Amino acid sequence: MEERPSTGEEENRGGFLLLFSYLLFVVERLGDPFSRPAWNLNQRCVTMISSVQMLEVVITGSFESWQEHARELLRRQVHPDDVRWVHGERSSSPPMNVAAIEPSAADAPTFVVPRRFVELARAAAAHTSSDRWATMYRVLWRLVHENRRLLDVPEDLDVLALAALQPSQQAIRGPTPSRTSTAGTLEFELGAPPGGSAAKAASQADAIAAAPDLDALRAASVSCTACELYKNATQVVFGRGPSTAQLMLVGEQPGDQEDLQGAPFVGPAGEVLDRALAEIGLDRRSVYISNVVKHFKWEPRGKRRIHQTPRANEIQACRPWLEAELRFVKPRVIVCLGSTAAQALIGPQFRITRSRGELYRSQWAPWIMGTYHPSAVLRAEDPATADRVYRWIADDLRNAASVENGSGLEAQGSWRRQKP
Ligand code: SF4
Repeated sequence: MEERPSTGEEENRGGFLLLFSYLLFVVERLGDPFSRPAWNLNQRCVTMISSVQMLEVVITGSFESWQEHARELLRRQVHPDDVRWVHGERSSSPPMNVAAIEPSAADAPTFVVPRRFVELARAAAAHTSSDRWATMYRVLWRLVHENRRLLDVPEDLDVLALAALQPSQQAIRGPTPSRTSTAGTLEFELGAPPGGSAAKAASQADAIAAAPDLDALRAASVSCTACELYKNATQVVFGRGPSTAQLMLVGEQPGDQEDLQGAPFVGPAGEVLDRALAEIGLDRRSVYISNVVKHFKWEPRGKRRIHQTPRANEIQACRPWLEAELRFVKPRVIVCLGSTAAQALIGPQFRITRSRGELYRSQWAPWIMGTYHPSAVLRAEDPATADRVYRWIADDLRNAASVENGSGLEAQGSWRRQKP
């Protein structure tokens, strides 16, 4: 067959297609941070290019030096993509200049990470790779913020990277600690007093690991003291609903009525939620409803108890209960009611005004969405605003329900592939 020489027009078309594909790729990666895969090389490159506030951390090369800085970074909630680890003779002081990033967390939580991680990180610190510190911190971050059982996912890229830093690459594939074994965890404490919140967090972890089902989990939560909130609350308010629920709603924390009655969404905000559920034909008894924090946080104002937003360390302390609920229920769709829940489960970049109603993939369910908390309807400045917010909530719940029953948005393509 005769080979036909390419024309200039074809070459131009080919070049245009190549340029167009590249632009599409860039738009997808840069224009929509919510659609980026959480942990791949592309995102790291993009973040490094676009970031103007990377934190340079100089460490002396010992595990203890890394640990000291990692504790502070965790305390300040500094994302791994925002840190550049530099191996040097002097340590930045004190231990790094992160004060400008976040307000000080004097009551920072104590994180409990698998003992195996500490052993792996200690071994990785002896490796000569300049990436070891970043790899260790990425895995640590994800253990704390994403998945306490991350090390049980040997095909995960970051777990593989940590494995590659081990003297024996079999290390991560070793036997998984027993669910009920306390030897499987180790406090990665952040300066908390000995026997204080670290011990309580470990006790909480044991109680959760020993619970065979949702009822046992609920019973175990009654005696939780992993943060201070139990002290001023009447009782723990655990999730309610069937363990087989396909739709799970997650709010922020119980309110005044919930605290007194011991059930979520039974106060005024619950009435708004009930109205929306009834309007879209969803039986509340088929839905699992919970909160990211299980005790009511409030301050007195006259005779009234006024809601206070839980702090990051309180949300973090309560997270194991929520994660355990998610593991038992295994919903098909999660709807986060309000920013606190959405940022806890979808990602800290989530903004209700920008992203409500959009569906993301999640490690906890095939689909996850954030919408306004029903209390936003009650707090609206005027009836028109209240109506509008209520309509958004009802519409978002309707869409979530349509995904849950398989008839909805997947076909329309109005969903996104990845959480932030
Ligand atoms: S808010 Fe959560 S972590 Fe804190 S004491 Fe209550 S149940 Fe425990």
